[in-house]
Amino acid sequence: MIEKNVPARISLAPWKESAVWSRRSVLLLFFSGTAFSHAQDEKYCRVCGRRIEAGEPFFAVPDRTEAICARCNQAAPRCRFCKLPTAAQAIHPYSGACPSCEAQLIHCQACGRAILGIRYSFALREGFFCPACKRNRPACFLCGAPVGDDLWRYPDDRVVCGACGERAIFDIDDIARIMEEAGAIVQSSYGLALSTAYVLRVEKLNSASATTRELRDRIFSDRSPLFGKELGLYRRVGTLSEIYLLFGLIPELLYEAAGHEYAHAWQADHNLLDAHPEWVEGFAQWAAAEVLRQKGFTAALERLERRGDSPYGTGYRQMKRLYRGNIRDLLPR
Ligand SMILES: [Zn+2]
Ligand SMILES: [Zn+2]
Ligand SMILES: [Zn+2]
Ligand SMILES: [Zn+2]
Ligand SMILES: [Zn+2]
Repeated sequence: MIEKNVPARISLAPWKESAVWSRRSVLLLFFSGTAFSHAQDEKYCRVCGRRIEAGEPFFAVPDRTEAICARCNQAAPRCRFCKLPTAAQAIHPYSGACPSCEAQLIHCQACGRAILGIRYSFALREGFFCPACKRNRPACFLCGAPVGDDLWRYPDDRVVCGACGERAIFDIDDIARIMEEAGAIVQSSYGLALSTAYVLRVEKLNSASATTRELRDRIFSDRSPLFGKELGLYRRVGTLSEIYLLFGLIPELLYEAAGHEYAHAWQADHNLLDAHPEWVEGFAQWAAAEVLRQKGFTAALERLERRGDSPYGTGYRQMKRLYRGNIRDLLPR
């Protein structure tokens, strides 16, 4: 069929913005080649690259200056999304998309493939992840996202994604500076000054098993007291006040842990560490949240506020309910 008297310019809704690309078939207009007799109107088939001779019928791709020869329109495979005939080698083997559709798909940050269905996101990580990677790849210790092939393996066997590893802080002096800064923020915001100076210990994660008693007392002669998912720890042994922080954290987690443990040091100074765990941890989370707010770590702050686990999430929410603008609102009576 040759259609005559087609409008000079065809304008369709931008097909790429449609959320239902795959259901919509793209209109291909069949032109008589006679309209293109001048040299500057020479047309080449976008699929096979062959020049379309004068007088030869061809298909015009709407909203594009491209043409497709009749043979390719018949025989070439089509993009799964825009349905345009496309050279077989240009169709992406995984997504079935032509290059321009492939470029607009969302890609998994771990495997690089287009995500065609459900996608996952993580508060501390940019981008999206496919279900297969979430299921099959190890989760980053820091952001929780599936790790890509550029993963980091710390000396304590923690697995960290490439993006977090790039931002992680390993230098002890840097960690000590952040600890001090977080403490200064809590102190100046809420007037929580320490009467006992703490000793900062930067540690690796302890992957060895420990006895229940050791875990309860957190006293190890030569091993780190940090286990599992712990980022930091406060310990008071006699008059010795110690803050432990895990090395290799991303800045927002380091500031969060530092603010949290600083609050515990203040609680210890006031003999409040034996109070109800919801209060002890909720108050420490309250201090950590203030540090994140002042440092502008919005995603980490939102993540902290969303937590529903006991005693951290539940304790924090209780603090939020009690707070009327003065830190005294939060103190046990
Ligand atoms: Zn062709
Ligand atoms: Zn396409
Ligand atoms: Zn993936
Ligand atoms: Zn990560
Ligand atoms: Zn705590």
